[in-house]
Amino acid sequence: TISGLKDQSLFTARCLVGDTWIAAEKGTGIAVTDPADGSLVAEVPSLSVETIRAAIDKAEVAQVEWARRTAKERASLIRRWYELILENADDLARILTAEQGKPLAEAKGEIVANAAYLEWFAEEAKRVYGDIVPPPGADRRVLVMKQPVGVCAAITPWNFPNGMITRKAGPALAAGCTIIVKPASQTPLSALSLGVLAERAGIPAGVFQVVTGKAKDIGTEFSHNPKVAKISFTGSTEVGRWLMREGASTIKRLSLELGGNAPFIVFEDADLDAAVAGTMIAKFRNSGQTCVCANRIYVHESLADAFAEKLAEAAQALKVGRGTEDGVTQGPLIDAAAVEKMEEHLKDALDRGARLVSGGSRHELGGTFFEPTVITDVTQDMQLAHEETFAPLAPIIPFSDETDVIAKANDTEFGLAAYFYTRDLARMFRVAEALESGIVGVNSGLIANEMAPFGGFKQSGLGREGSKYGIEEYLETKYICVAGL
Ligand code: ADP
Repeated sequence: TISGLKDQSLFTARCLVGDTWIAAEKGTGIAVTDPADGSLVAEVPSLSVETIRAAIDKAEVAQVEWARRTAKERASLIRRWYELILENADDLARILTAEQGKPLAEAKGEIVANAAYLEWFAEEAKRVYGDIVPPPGADRRVLVMKQPVGVCAAITPWNFPNGMITRKAGPALAAGCTIIVKPASQTPLSALSLGVLAERAGIPAGVFQVVTGKAKDIGTEFSHNPKVAKISFTGSTEVGRWLMREGASTIKRLSLELGGNAPFIVFEDADLDAAVAGTMIAKFRNSGQTCVCANRIYVHESLADAFAEKLAEAAQALKVGRGTEDGVTQGPLIDAAAVEKMEEHLKDALDRGARLVSGGSRHELGGTFFEPTVITDVTQDMQLAHEETFAPLAPIIPFSDETDVIAKANDTEFGLAAYFYTRDLARMFRVAEALESGIVGVNSGLIANEMAPFGGFKQSGLGREGSKYGIEEYLETKYICVAGL
């Protein structure tokens, strides 16, 4: 059990394949632990490749019937699922925090903000329009219609164990696709709880399934199985590249939401307090473990000292602790490797001349808790300027010139999110257009919502999630030539 749940039946360690809930065979399961103290929360199955294949077969059968329903029917089931998620958001947050560590309020925020993708796409389902195009001759007509791509597979990460699923399932189901989710092995319980609610909402068996097991084996089966039309992946660039290679054998449709290395630029005309507040959100949300987290904070040299001081003050006011404790704003990092990467980036920066302003050590709570850390006098040659830190390390890089800072901001293979603060309208357009990034936050550190297209330029990925663009990822375009008229 997970303490504090009003409805314990939302907490399950069983996978959902068709209408069957499959438990781990004794001694063969995958352990799910609480990152706050390493304690065992549950053991989920390590499903065989045969079972994954069976899930794909069920998804294929279910898809035909699901796509045949009217958009309105699909919409009302997706909508019901959305409502159940909202009604149970407190319990879902407890499950999320138990496996991922983030503060309960933040977990609930993730769940509610991303359930909104179900609401949005339930509405969009009814607006998948085709075209009638002027024909090349009087004897014919040109019709264009949209059809679901078919069976989809989703592979999702541990940093948003709940939200990354509703983001993908919403447009897939709305379009008339079925979807099989393989959540991260660290955080499968949120995915399984969504399965419980999908079933309760009346989503038919086989339309939404959740499988756990060896990531590589499941990824290989998804990639090679010709019945899977599309894979939507959120995770590392390295695994994204691997999926592209594996998917080549079946020309898999792919949506990839990969790593980032977000620049955050504070120009000399910025509102300093607003910029500090925006940095706090863009840097320290989820303890720095989001793909849109500010990784490099470029501050105009005239403001750098004042900015560092205010940011350090705000960082020190954060409360580190167990996500279930009142008032906590910073949970533990996901695992020991995450802490080691943070320490490596920090040490490299300090060795090369950066200056520690606040934090800098493992937290006295032990485990994977780390102090929110601010450093300044950071330069472009340091490791953290080129790699995603994914931890609560805020590095300030002073700059003097707009053209130069844009070049530095773009000096990365990634292009997911970028942020800047300015009050100059001409600069706002100039910089926003010059940044090589799929998402640009101007005077805001919080940019994701269901109405807007989320996705990256360059090696940050392919495709978009959310908005009217998001449903296109799950649709094929069919052209029908009607002749002999
Ligand atoms: P992270 O660094 O966030 O853990 P990963 O890309 O390793 O990023 O993980 C994201 C998701 O991809 C997880 O669900 C993980 O289990 C899965 N994954 C990792 N390796 C593979 C693989 N070879 N094939 C398919 N999925 C994988």
